Amino acid sequence: MEQMAYLFETIGSSEEEMVDFLADIISVPAVGPLSGGTGEKEKADRIGTYLIKWGLDGIENHDACDTTVPSGIRPNIELTMKGRDPSRRIIIIAHMDVVPPGDPGNWSGDPYQLWRDGGRLIGRGVEDNGQALTASLFAMKTLKDLDIEPVHDIVIFLVSDEEETNKKGIGHLLDENLLRKDDLILVPDHGEPEGRVIELCEKTLLWVKVTTKGKQCHASMPALGNNAFRASMLFGTKVDRTLHEKFDRKDPGFDHPISSFEPTKKGPGVDGINVLPGEDTFYIDCRLLPGYTIDEVLKEMRNVADQVEEETETEITINEEFSETTLHPTSPGSDIVTALSSAIEKVTGKRHINGGIGGGTCAALLRNEGYEVAVWETIHNRAHSSDEYILIENLITDCKVFAALFMGG
Ligand SMILES: [Zn+2]
Repeated sequence: MEQMAYLFETIGSSEEEMVDFLADIISVPAVGPLSGGTGEKEKADRIGTYLIKWGLDGIENHDACDTTVPSGIRPNIELTMKGRDPSRRIIIIAHMDVVPPGDPGNWSGDPYQLWRDGGRLIGRGVEDNGQALTASLFAMKTLKDLDIEPVHDIVIFLVSDEEETNKKGIGHLLDENLLRKDDLILVPDHGEPEGRVIELCEKTLLWVKVTTKGKQCHASMPALGNNAFRASMLFGTKVDRTLHEKFDRKDPGFDHPISSFEPTKKGPGVDGINVLPGEDTFYIDCRLLPGYTIDEVLKEMRNVADQVEEETETEITINEEFSETTLHPTSPGSDIVTALSSAIEKVTGKRHINGGIGGGTCAALLRNEGYEVAVWETIHNRAHSSDEYILIENLITDCKVFAALFMGG
């Protein structure tokens, strides 16, 4: 039988083993310390026992120190399988940490005990990032079991800290110079149900805090004060219109094809209905298409604020709370996109589509350092929600695609 067909068939028949592995690893909570967890050490150890059992011995540990977790370390595992030609490497990066399950009442079962419902697997971390972690390891394991030598060296990085700061995970890999600019890097941490969109860039993220100051008084005597909430609403509606008009470029490659400016969190207001508020706070979440800068958005906001200040005799402060600029989108003609596209077509017969997303993955960090990174997997986007689920058929398909990628695409 042709080698690739044999490889795919073997993966298809490993379904039960893959499901058991996924069930076992998600049973170990791996929540980061900022979310009240103890980190990834126990889960990494559990994964490590499988790697040894499977005879995947190209393991190197790159632990990052972290005194805020009981073990003192945030583990990062580098798993290598040598290929015929070591001049290039094909790399998959998956993360071990998960977000907390949240209110258990919102789950139909124990989030850490994987359960099956027809073709679905349900549990915390099955999608984010359990499917990709399992699929990539089984792709490598199957090559090993069948004694197939890949063309290039293949490397799987299992990292910590993706859900919180990335500093002890991908950031640590960068600090240690473990990646090369000519690596073909795939981060399977975002996708869609069709498995066609290869994500090549992300929007620039900007979080802004808007504080409006007026003068508090009794609501029955408004002339004695100055209503900060009213001025803030005026600013909110004006700035919303202005930003959408000024930054109106469309890019159909993005899941939301325009830049977005959404008022989100609301600061505390006054307690009494009869109190005229002297201060108001709200936040805006901005996602900018490539080409627009944080500075030009902040400048527009300031212009509107100046007008509203004059009109309402209030004082409006605009603070940048957090931002992340996307500097280098991955090129559609890069080797990783070409190889991945060919792997997808071999397995599913589908032609890929280049795309972008508004939400961030850790790929942005790598792109900003000048690495070419593709983001792809086949999922229903249930990450972070209760009853998080994946389809078994997607687990198998993605495993085949990773195996085909490991064979050079
Ligand atoms: Zn993730």
